[in-house]
Amino acid sequence: MRLMRSPKALLVALFWTVCVPAKVLAVPAPAISVAYHLRYAGVGDSRVIVQITPENPLPAPVSLVIPRTYPGGYSFVPYDDFAEEVRAFSLDGKIIECKKDADGPRWAIGHGSERILRIEYRVNVGRMEDRIRSSVESSKIRKNYVGLLGYSVFGYIDGLQAAPVSLRVEGPQDWPVLSTLNPRIVGPKGMAEAQAANYDVLADSQVVMGPGVQFRELPGKIDLLMAVYSEGDEDVDAEGKLAREALDRVQEYFGDTPFKAYTVSLELLQPHQGHDYDFSQEHDSSGTFSLSVEHATNARSPDNHNYSTLLNYAHHMAHSWVPKRVWGVGYRPFNWELPLVIETIWFNEGFGRYAGTQAIFDGLPAEERKSRRNQMIARMHRILDEAPAFIQRMPLTLLSQEASFLYAADFRTGMNVFARGFLMAAEMDDCIQAKTGGRKSLRDAFRALLDWSAANHRAFQVEEMTGIISQSTDVDVHEIVEHWMKAPVG
Ligand SMILES: [Zn+2]
Repeated sequence: MRLMRSPKALLVALFWTVCVPAKVLAVPAPAISVAYHLRYAGVGDSRVIVQITPENPLPAPVSLVIPRTYPGGYSFVPYDDFAEEVRAFSLDGKIIECKKDADGPRWAIGHGSERILRIEYRVNVGRMEDRIRSSVESSKIRKNYVGLLGYSVFGYIDGLQAAPVSLRVEGPQDWPVLSTLNPRIVGPKGMAEAQAANYDVLADSQVVMGPGVQFRELPGKIDLLMAVYSEGDEDVDAEGKLAREALDRVQEYFGDTPFKAYTVSLELLQPHQGHDYDFSQEHDSSGTFSLSVEHATNARSPDNHNYSTLLNYAHHMAHSWVPKRVWGVGYRPFNWELPLVIETIWFNEGFGRYAGTQAIFDGLPAEERKSRRNQMIARMHRILDEAPAFIQRMPLTLLSQEASFLYAADFRTGMNVFARGFLMAAEMDDCIQAKTGGRKSLRDAFRALLDWSAANHRAFQVEEMTGIISQSTDVDVHEIVEHWMKAPVG
């Protein structure tokens, strides 16, 4: 099966080897696409309905899987807890038994000779938000707003993850509805449609709807769509300008335009007691920015607001390149059931942070650029200095493996892994610029890494990354990598 390249070929193989015995030749072609239909009935309902319909009915049994983790979350979030009334329907209209696995996020569907036409379930978003204390990990439903993280509501039929997906979203009739898979301003028509290359892309998208959302389109080299829901005073135009500037700077830093449009889904919320706010989450070509209202952009914003907002946008936008388009061991292929052990979160979060930060610094006057950069580097050193001794004694690969599960839950792991990665990147950049008399910088290395990734479609080994950086800049960075891979305290 490994030799087969196309998703279609893979699906055919799965169908043959797993699902269907001898009489298969008489059966219609296997399912090669999957239709998702998401419905929200309207005010007062705290649940959404999801229907999954394979292009052709599937022979039982099949498994429905609902995610327990997501790319770049570095955590365990059992979204299957919020799926209710999981049902399946057979070709002849009968309800088929769906049995949840006692331990995993899977439902076994059917066991006899049924053919499964469609699977349907509800997701209790109200309960999700009650139980999940990290705002950025939960979807939301308000009186005039619904904001859904793809992976928190969309499950998949095991074996069909590679199949192309069509999505139809329906909300109340007069509501605007947006899928970030199809990022454009939508009128109040209560419906949106979109396509995705496969389940992973669908799961890493978002759905936003409701009269409480303010949309802005800001065209550019990469078009920007703002979708802002605010429970406080927010100047959406000023916010959009900041996001536009951040996206331009990040695009300029990496140099290419790997996607046509980027969506900022911004939530400015009145905090619920005991819940955490102010984390953001990157997606394939969009970001969820789930902040408390005190971070709104308005006439009362503090002096440093624009700068810190630019940095936050740039950080998450940079993730659309690092690690979404170049990544190290463990990030992909993605496993939606268990958090993957990732050896190179220092690249995702340290190098990614460095690129986003540097992109913003590049737009500052020379003096300010220097002092801002020095401040940032000093902050990273402080994180290292203030870490508990047991973290200081961890080599970087081990710290990254720990952060694979605990990044935000125990932010000491998250902060130390990004700080060490940032400082490694900064040292490389300084060294490259010094040795080439400013002819080259780490920016050239990022571009070479992206080219390598586009050609190879796989994770790099650290040695490969080091070689590509050295080669593309004519500066040997092996010693710098070796130094930072060790624990700061021996
Ligand atoms: Zn990040």
